[in-house]
Amino acid sequence: MVKADAYGHGDITVAAHCRKMGVKHFAVSNINEAERLREHGISGDILILGYTPPGYAKALSENDIIQALPSLDYAEELSLAADAAGVRVRCHIKLDTGMSRIGFDAYDTKKCVSEAAAAAALSSLSVEGIFTHLCVADSADEGDREFTLSQRERILSVRDGLREKGIDLKTVHFLNSAGGTYYSDGESALARFGIMLYGLAPDPATPLYVDIRPVMEVKSAVAMVKVLPAGRYISYGRTVKTESERVIATIPIGYADGYPRLLSNKGYVLINGKKAPIVGRVCMDQTMVDVTGIDGVREGSVATVMGTDGGLSVTADDIAAWAGTISYEIVCGISARVPRVVIENGEIADVWRLI
Ligand SMILES: *Cc1c(COP(=O)(O)O)cnc(C)c1O
Repeated sequence: MVKADAYGHGDITVAAHCRKMGVKHFAVSNINEAERLREHGISGDILILGYTPPGYAKALSENDIIQALPSLDYAEELSLAADAAGVRVRCHIKLDTGMSRIGFDAYDTKKCVSEAAAAAALSSLSVEGIFTHLCVADSADEGDREFTLSQRERILSVRDGLREKGIDLKTVHFLNSAGGTYYSDGESALARFGIMLYGLAPDPATPLYVDIRPVMEVKSAVAMVKVLPAGRYISYGRTVKTESERVIATIPIGYADGYPRLLSNKGYVLINGKKAPIVGRVCMDQTMVDVTGIDGVREGSVATVMGTDGGLSVTADDIAAWAGTISYEIVCGISARVPRVVIENGEIADVWRLI
């Protein structure tokens, strides 16, 4: 899963590295992401999970991109557009087995099988696979486990129904990170690993049975250190007034970099191996932290916004908990303004400046 710029990590770097390790299948959310991979020479299968306007049939075909089919109506439109352009488009049928997002409704197996068969018979589409998405596979709750198994049953019933009609789709897939981790399942030909590829757990509350480490670190540096007497205010809105003398460092990272404004007066960064709590509101480009009692903080000191420093670490899950969200949103949200520095074997291998 290299959608959303590989969850904020850099799609080209991640996809090229995965190719080297033998990965042959990639998935993205839209045609821009898919074309970008091809423009940078990424080979292998690329599946678009989301909607592509049928007018892009030619671009899909020319770039050898596989398109998800979320409904029979869409499949018919795409086939017509492909026919008009004189091309064939590779496709996977998307089933809705319980998330109610996109896909052929798989609650009625019979109807679903006949619609999927109709899509598979369209002249300008090559339907090669069928997939669905699990929505509670990260939960240990008994009801959620049953629901996940019911989703699995629904896709396998549709697959079997298609087989009975002589349509044998070779690529059946339904496992995301949580599904692949908590439900070992040989019926899924592929596992669409996203968050775990980046070293993060689908749900930090559900223990993992494998050892993974976060790939992303976010580093900044102190821009200025000042000593404030008691009675001074910090940042927009004057939400903080110093009650005693405080040493305050300003870090040039803010919500325009994807550091959530919801962290205002919550959480901390690490400087010289110590916690420096965020004081006042996170601004667009800068954030103030309290470094009182931390030795040796000066302009240029490294501020670890996410990652480890000494024996301490700040994880995407920590930041997500402070901001009331999930790690996915934190890593995806690190904006294009933040250069991506690729580290291989402890050395800088590449730097991507997106802006
Ligand atoms: C994002 C996505 C995934 C990956 O989910 P993770 O929880 O990150 O592993 C898999 N399948 C689909 C359809 C997705 O949209």
